[in-house]
Amino acid sequence: MSRLPVSASKRALSSSSSENGQDFGPAQKKICKDRETVKPRAAATIVGGRRPAVGPTKAPISRPVRAGGAATVAVGPSRGKMSVGGATKRQPWDLKGKVSDMEGKVRNFQTKIKSVNQENEVLKDTVVQSHTKVVEMEKTLARQRNQISEYEKELQALLGVRDKLEKVSGDKSLLEKELSNLEGKYKVMETLRDSQETELQTLKMKLSVQESALARLQTTLTNTEEEVSRLKDTVVQQKDELHAGEMERRRLHNTIQELKGNIRVFCRVRPLVEGGLSKHIQLPASDNKTITLAKTEESHTGKTSDTQKNYNFNFDRVFGPQASQHEVFEEISLLVQSALDGYNVCCFAYGQTGSGKTYTMEGSEYDDYRGVIPRAVKQIFRAAEKLGAQGWEFTFTASFVEIYNETLRDLLFTGKASKRPEHEIRKSTNNEVTITNLTYQKVSSEDQVLGLIMLANQNRSTAQTAQNDRSSRSHSVFQLDIEGVNVGRDVKCKSTLCLVDLAGSERMLKSQSQGERFKEMTAINGSLSNLGIVISALANKVCKETYLGKEEPDSFGETLNSLRFASKVSCIHVCFNVPS
Ligand code: ADP
Ligand code: MG
Repeated sequence: MSRLPVSASKRALSSSSSENGQDFGPAQKKICKDRETVKPRAAATIVGGRRPAVGPTKAPISRPVRAGGAATVAVGPSRGKMSVGGATKRQPWDLKGKVSDMEGKVRNFQTKIKSVNQENEVLKDTVVQSHTKVVEMEKTLARQRNQISEYEKELQALLGVRDKLEKVSGDKSLLEKELSNLEGKYKVMETLRDSQETELQTLKMKLSVQESALARLQTTLTNTEEEVSRLKDTVVQQKDELHAGEMERRRLHNTIQELKGNIRVFCRVRPLVEGGLSKHIQLPASDNKTITLAKTEESHTGKTSDTQKNYNFNFDRVFGPQASQHEVFEEISLLVQSALDGYNVCCFAYGQTGSGKTYTMEGSEYDDYRGVIPRAVKQIFRAAEKLGAQGWEFTFTASFVEIYNETLRDLLFTGKASKRPEHEIRKSTNNEVTITNLTYQKVSSEDQVLGLIMLANQNRSTAQTAQNDRSSRSHSVFQLDIEGVNVGRDVKCKSTLCLVDLAGSERMLKSQSQGERFKEMTAINGSLSNLGIVISALANKVCKETYLGKEEPDSFGETLNSLRFASKVSCIHVCFNVPS
């Protein structure tokens, strides 16, 4: 439907209706008002015609508006009409009829105009509505666009969320795996926990048992502590008693030693190389203090029979050829104990070369054959250790000197032979004798002392090779300085144990001794006779005897001499060695 023909017909309609001044209802009124200025036309002849009821009938918008046409106008039959082939034709004279036709046509047109106007109004409304709708639609569209952009934004956000979701679901699957792992572990842990709980229960039971045991023990402990404190008091008391007892023991022991004789002489008879005892020597089985030297003397005249001359000697103890190192030391050990008690003890081995002096003093390295020096040291160290429990602390210093031709030689010297120093004997203000430049070695074990004996032997053998059989013509002196202190009791002791292996006591024929030998002989004889004098003086005995004037180079004579010397110094701490 086109709008243009509608407005054209509207114009035509307006002019005619205003001319007639007819009331066409509100719609028409409005149109008329708009068109007041339009001049009336000549066609205003339609007044008085029958007209259909015109009202504000509303044609449906959808109804098509037909263009006006005569063909559709129905006009009632009238006079003067001629019907030609269905069409009615007025007679030229029939003006009235023609007017009536015209009026009918006008009415038709008016009707059409009305309906068209109505349609037009309806359309206007529709247009307005449509405009409104369009505006609304545009608004809606804008809203929807906005919404779409919002949706797009949301979509973007959702895409982000989707990514996140994917990531999260990836994480989730990982976590799920982890979870299943953890669940597995958890189960293991549960099993473990169960077993531990069982164990815990067992332990709790044990603990309760232990606790009750502990309670019992605590009671016992309290009792024991009381007992201990009582015992401590007793120990203190007993320590005091022990100390007093130890001091008493020392006093008694040393009184006994004094009563036995401060100077004691033991005689040891060496076995023959082939074993056994020499025919000159007789050792009475009943007695271990006597020795008899027997000699058969031929008759000078030959008329009388040979006579046997016996020389009897008594000693503190006589050891036969079977006596072991241990047996010999047993006698000496009492004096060694005195050394630890603070008494000076000196032990000499006297006798001719080969009589067993060095064997007795040093012995060999095998345990059973060890001599007096290692045994004495061992005893001292052991006793010192025991006294340690009573608060005694000891220090031991060893020295080893060789005296040859009245000169001293350090047997513990370890430096170069060319740097060997000279020594002098010095006496300090408190009567202590020291030797200058001598090695004083601190010792604390038997092994250390054995090492020193070995070192001394090395030093001796060096001198030995330079000078044949030198050791038999020199004295060697082992000295152990003992210092003890008992701090708790404020007691001190200081003593010296001196073990001397003297030079061979054999005498040489003066006529055969020349040069060095004569010098040695003089030195040895001088020192030994001085020793005899000193020992005798110590024993408070004036020595009136002299050596036999007659010199005898044989073994018998030497033995006799030794025994006489020993008798002279009677009761020395001497282990007297005589060859069989
Ligand atoms: P000295 O030192 O008096 O010159 P030795 O001690 O060197 O004498 O002894 C000389 C030899 O006699 C050594 O071979 C030694 O082993 C041996 N001897 C000494 N006394 C005994 C003894 N009581 N038992 C066994 N052998 C001994
Ligand atoms: Mg010797």
